[in-house]
Amino acid sequence: MKRREVIKSISILPVAGVVIGSSFPLDYTISAPATSSAPKRDLFKELGLRKFINAAGTYTFMTASLMPDEVVEAIVSTSREFVLLDEVQDKAGEKIAAMCHAEAATVTAGCWSALVLGTAGVLTGMDIKKVAQLPNLEGMKSEVIVQKSHNEGYVHALTNTGVKMVEIETVQELENAINEKTAMMWFLNYAAPHGKIQNEEWVALGKKHSIPTMIDMAADVPPVQNLWKYNDMGFDLVCISGGKGLRGPQSAGILMGRKDLIAAARLNAPPRGDNIGRGMKVNKEEIFGMYVALDRYINQDHEKEWKIWEERISLIENAARRVNGVTAEVTIPQIANHTPTLNLSWDINKVKVTRDEFQERLRMGNPSIEVRGGNDNSVVITVFMLKPGQEKIVASRIQEELIKASL
Ligand SMILES: *Cc1c(COP(=O)(O)O)cnc(C)c1O
Repeated sequence: MKRREVIKSISILPVAGVVIGSSFPLDYTISAPATSSAPKRDLFKELGLRKFINAAGTYTFMTASLMPDEVVEAIVSTSREFVLLDEVQDKAGEKIAAMCHAEAATVTAGCWSALVLGTAGVLTGMDIKKVAQLPNLEGMKSEVIVQKSHNEGYVHALTNTGVKMVEIETVQELENAINEKTAMMWFLNYAAPHGKIQNEEWVALGKKHSIPTMIDMAADVPPVQNLWKYNDMGFDLVCISGGKGLRGPQSAGILMGRKDLIAAARLNAPPRGDNIGRGMKVNKEEIFGMYVALDRYINQDHEKEWKIWEERISLIENAARRVNGVTAEVTIPQIANHTPTLNLSWDINKVKVTRDEFQERLRMGNPSIEVRGGNDNSVVITVFMLKPGQEKIVASRIQEELIKASL
């Protein structure tokens, strides 16, 4: 179907009448392992769970992302043999580090656990007694410097180790704050535009004072180059989520950076037990899955994928624009969730539905659709988590609900 025909065909068709194409080259579906011919057990049905089309984004509470077939196959195919957990980490870590221009890397239980383990490694080094002692910091450094505008969200991961966050705003304040208790300097990448000190300068100041720097770039691919940009820049530790843009297992992430710090971080992690990281276990299947997801992501055709996203966005945009009183704007967040994003808003006098009601109607429809709430009378839509063809359903349902509210 040509795009123009698709747009024509969606004008107020009931969802059942929408043809779902499968001409998209990127495979977002998960198939059953090739060996099983028995009827599939529908676990969603068995547990009474609502499945939905995700036009919102990589949200943790929405289970973040769908793993591509290759990743699922890596998980299934490695699940049938024993290996040593540390050996899987060693070997997968070497490959991951090479792909991302880091000295070393390890797979963690999400970006949050990368933040904890990386910080713990900085504090303990290779001292087993210190590892066992955390979060009691007696005899260790105890402060992490952070820009005020970065001191939010996931900082609890750092303070779990016992450290105290020390807020600064200017370079002068940073240099005054540095003392013998300073363990690390932490940078929250998505908050960069709100801080006075940018990435390169942060790294330079860390090097000047011999203090390790860590960056949280959890949701900051795409662009793919970010996977090595901050290692090349000289951050000592880089933390990223595995289950967001990379579409690895949701409960995986990557900690990469200086070899000595990664080794120390691993002392604080399973399979070792007397440490604060014991509950942040990553099983071998997830480590393989993470490795394959990263490899696949790096080698995929990013330009092609971006074009597909733009096509999906314009399909939905055009369908919504046909309704009188609706305004549509496409933006691309600069850092984090860097993907075409459609902001739909409407004149409440013409389209008589609140944002929450509108979201609820999409949610309760068949199929169920999740979009993000925006400001008053507006919703925000992304298409990077859609399976091929779902953009047509989203376009049609959104148009349908907007028209219903206009009558
Ligand atoms: C999602 C996120 C985290 C946590 O990552 P997980 O992979 O879910 O553990 C940490 N920091 C930022 C900025 C995030 O967006």
